[in-house]
Amino acid sequence: MASLDQFRSETRSWLAANCPASMREKGAGADNPYTRKKRSGDSLLWLETMAGKGWVAPTWPTKYGGGGLSEGENAVLREEMAAINAPAPLAGMSLTMIGPTLLEMGNEEQKQRHLPGITSGTVHWCQGYSEPNAGSDLANLQTKAEDKGDHFIINGSKIWTSGAMHADWMFCLVRTDPNVKKQKGISFVLFPMTDPGVSYKPIRLINGEAPFCQVFFDDVRAEKSELIGKINEGWTVGKRLLQHERSSIGGGGNHRLGTDITLLDIVREYRGDENGKLDDPILRLQVIQQEMDVAAFGETTKRIADEAESGMTPGFATSMIKLYGSEMNKNNTELMVSIMGPQGLGSYKDTDNFTAREHIVTAAWLGNKASTIAGGCSEVQLDIIAKRILELPSA
Ligand SMILES: Cc1cc2nc3c(=O)[nH]c(=O)nc-3n(C[C@H](O)[C@H](O)[C@H](O)COP(=O)(O)OP(=O)(O)OC[C@H]3O[C@@H](n4cnc5c(N)ncnc54)[C@H](O)[C@@H]3O)c2cc1C
Repeated sequence: MASLDQFRSETRSWLAANCPASMREKGAGADNPYTRKKRSGDSLLWLETMAGKGWVAPTWPTKYGGGGLSEGENAVLREEMAAINAPAPLAGMSLTMIGPTLLEMGNEEQKQRHLPGITSGTVHWCQGYSEPNAGSDLANLQTKAEDKGDHFIINGSKIWTSGAMHADWMFCLVRTDPNVKKQKGISFVLFPMTDPGVSYKPIRLINGEAPFCQVFFDDVRAEKSELIGKINEGWTVGKRLLQHERSSIGGGGNHRLGTDITLLDIVREYRGDENGKLDDPILRLQVIQQEMDVAAFGETTKRIADEAESGMTPGFATSMIKLYGSEMNKNNTELMVSIMGPQGLGSYKDTDNFTAREHIVTAAWLGNKASTIAGGCSEVQLDIIAKRILELPSA
């Protein structure tokens, strides 16, 4: 414990000296949270400083650019960062999905080749899983990879690929054997998005943004050395990555709201009496229930993380985290919007009648619905919980 206390005091001093003041302001965050590209000023400085210390990925081994911290030290680091409102230097699937999967299932050359690009924020990854006819039934995927000796040639298409237009590399599930049970003929490969056979078409949403793409593969080359695990055994790797994904979607807090908009703020602002209190008893009960759910869920995720072996992302329990966390975040923003009334429903284009904060809540309300689908919809999580955790008989 004494050494953790010492670590805490050293970490506190280091953060005080190195975290730029502008990054600690309420609501501040990285201008491009997923990569180093297009970052500038203090946001870039913060990423570079944390990367230099290994604290972009605090628990990863130092030889891959991580910080080599124990779980206890990492918890202290997180607490000390939260205490001064320091944002995470990097977010997204490079760090939370492909990185941890490579650490567990990649070979040494693959780890050395790919992990430093993640810990420095220089290489940005995207996920090639879903296809037009393979979403919830992911094992039905048809993108084909032909074995050409030292490499594969890939043809087909992926859809809903978040951030494909900014990504440097894709991790991808491909069919390498069409003649066996569908889960048995899948492999997990990596290839650069700069391959001349890769093209993409952005998918535009009703809010005007185009955060994902349909991606097309026309004789794309993936080296055999970029196969993770064995050929035709990619389903196991792919499922493990989904557990990392589900854990980060459900356990990551209500991140779409940022750090400075809470349910209680919204209550005070829109429905509070002169003392900031809520006089509608039904709404009051709903708010209390929601706040209790958030607190109880926070404690539960902490306990699950503590119980997981040596800080590893838990296994099938991630479906519980994903289901409960994403549904809870959805309820939270539903409640906010119902409290705000028409002010919660502004078009993103209307900046005359709605404030920036109101736009954030509306976007989070819509985005939190999407989070109950991304990474496997709630019904699929219920299926996994029934089969794998409760061991109920399947139909
Ligand atoms: C914000 C967002 C980001 C995403 N990013 C990516 C990405 O980067 N890469 C990627 O590969 N994919 C991505 N996806 C796709 C995501 O994984 C799929 O949307 C998801 O798996 C559901 O597949 P689907 O859209 O084909 O819906 P379908 O599989 O067609 O399902 C539609 C609906 O049918 C119902 N349903 C389906 N199966 C069952 C069942 N077994 N039991 C009961 N009900 C069922 C559910 O209500 C479900 O919502 C993203 C999705 C979203 C929303």
